[in-house]
Amino acid sequence: MKKDYVERKAYAKINLGLDVLRKRADGYHEVKMIMQTVDLWDRLTFSLSASQGIELSVGAAPLPVGKENLIYRAAALIMEKKNILQGVRITLEKKIPVAAGMAGGSTDAAAVFHGLNELLGLSMSREEMKELGVQIGADVPYCIMGGTALSEGIGEILTPLPSPPPCVLVVAKPDIDVSTKFVYGNLHVEEIKDHPDIDGMTEALRKGDLDGITNRMGNVLETVTVEAYPVVSELKRVMKVAGAENALMSGSGPTVFGVFKEKELAQGAADKIKDLELAGQVFVTGFVNSGCNSHDGI
Ligand code: ATP
Repeated sequence: MKKDYVERKAYAKINLGLDVLRKRADGYHEVKMIMQTVDLWDRLTFSLSASQGIELSVGAAPLPVGKENLIYRAAALIMEKKNILQGVRITLEKKIPVAAGMAGGSTDAAAVFHGLNELLGLSMSREEMKELGVQIGADVPYCIMGGTALSEGIGEILTPLPSPPPCVLVVAKPDIDVSTKFVYGNLHVEEIKDHPDIDGMTEALRKGDLDGITNRMGNVLETVTVEAYPVVSELKRVMKVAGAENALMSGSGPTVFGVFKEKELAQGAADKIKDLELAGQVFVTGFVNSGCNSHDGI
């Protein structure tokens, strides 16, 4: 059934663990990551428009509104595959830091799959959306699913996992933009010595063992980003001194997150980061459990 108007939350992700196994002949990197949805989101609205095509507005966000925007590309792909002539209007309210390692673009694209599916009554299954989504980006299938997951291959082989036990997160994005291309381009996979224990973390998640999870947090991309941007290791240090169980860079960075057992400690860490002016965007937040991205709007 078609609708006139749909709203969706597009949640950000962090990587509790990120390993790169090898570079494939086609240039893609084979990864092994633990993905986790966090309670930080963009708001997207979808409505039918009188004119044909896709009309995208992004408010004040410093983002393109044409084909370079992943929202536009996801909508164009769906409309081409489903022979949609009806015009659509999409608006984005951006809260997720951009070029931050939090899959902001991919999660917006994922929200387009859910949003247009509902608006246009397309009845696409979750699997169909994920298959189309990978054409937009390797993290899009995960974002369509959400929650906690083991991600393998180039990111498209997904195994849902139990969510970690409750805890508080501090997410800090320093005022620098890091290009994912730059980080992977400067990564020498054969030289990586410390591979995070992703299998051990998967086991700890299955057991609901928070210490087992935080003790195994690791991200091989830190080697590249930390060298170029020392603020990343400074943020990790400040979070740990402030009482974080552990702290890690998310994705290709530069966002750093810390896992805390107590809200007061987390708030203290966030205040300290702001006082030291290490990051312009600082959030005290938490994990979001599986299934969140399949729920309706706001
Ligand atoms: P990842 O964690 O997947 O590497 P990221 O958080 O590092 O992603 P994004 O915020 O997705 O990075 O943005 C990366 C680039 O993609 C930006 O430079 C931006 O211009 C472009 N982009 C295209 N569409 C979007 C969108 N809807 N939201 C954010 N960035 C977008």
